[in-house]
Amino acid sequence: MVDESQIRASLFVWLEKESGRNGGIFTRDQLLNGFVVDGETISLLGAKGIWIPRQFDDIPISIATYSHGPYKDSMDENFRVNYKYLGRNPDERENAGLRKAAISKTPLVYFISPIPGKYQALWPVFIIEDHPETLSVIAEVKSAYISELQGSERAGLVGEQDMRKYQYALVRQRLHQQAFRVQVLDAYGDNCTVCHLKHAELLDAAHIIPDGKPRGEPVVPNGLSLCKIHHAAFDNNIIGITPDYIIRVRDDVLEEHDGPMLRHGLQELHDHKIILPHHKSDWPDRERLEVRWGEFGRAG
Ligand SMILES: [Zn+2]
Repeated sequence: MVDESQIRASLFVWLEKESGRNGGIFTRDQLLNGFVVDGETISLLGAKGIWIPRQFDDIPISIATYSHGPYKDSMDENFRVNYKYLGRNPDERENAGLRKAAISKTPLVYFISPIPGKYQALWPVFIIEDHPETLSVIAEVKSAYISELQGSERAGLVGEQDMRKYQYALVRQRLHQQAFRVQVLDAYGDNCTVCHLKHAELLDAAHIIPDGKPRGEPVVPNGLSLCKIHHAAFDNNIIGITPDYIIRVRDDVLEEHDGPMLRHGLQELHDHKIILPHHKSDWPDRERLEVRWGEFGRAG
């Protein structure tokens, strides 16, 4: 006999630990394989979006959503998600399970998939309303993020409403950043677009036009998959990329004399073409490169 509430509590600890390790991106296999508690392996994701592991009676452990593509916020600013039933029968086991989760106030996990095969996790999530008439429920994310707010950040916020707004912005920003990284790296096949390095743990998703500036959105055509060195070199205008996808190294850096990092890691890349994503729709946007390239010209 498994203690479901114990498993859910252990799961939240596990998610916290794992997301520290994986940057908040879980693979489908990892979730299908699940996690082990008291010798039991609990699968966290199934073929259906609403998942009840075999050890559980009838309340799901997770709900999942696909949000492939940019800016598809599935959450409103009250952290609420309108989640569709499975199929059209309100009494289907999974749908009835969500209703039971609402009545018993059972915490679930909400998985969002920014690209096929990869997931972000939000927890705990509560089902707060059931709407058989529209074949959906309202789930509310009660994220633990608020505990991360520092005293000084809290100080500027007046009321509960203010706090929630701020917390929402924070959560949304984090989700977008994580999704941006995984979408950009995926588009480039986990290569540094400049030097081909293939270690995802050393790769970043760089913005062509910085976040917060006009057209600086976290979308793949505003992204470049760059290793840590080349990300910093790009941000600091040591290397630039022309609107025709050619790498240029800044003049003064081309003339320097130093060891192999400078020679192979920077100077030899001059005039080479970047690696482009497989799908043309993922290619860096020429107009954005143009704007950024102008900035590089002024720095040189
Ligand atoms: Zn590189």
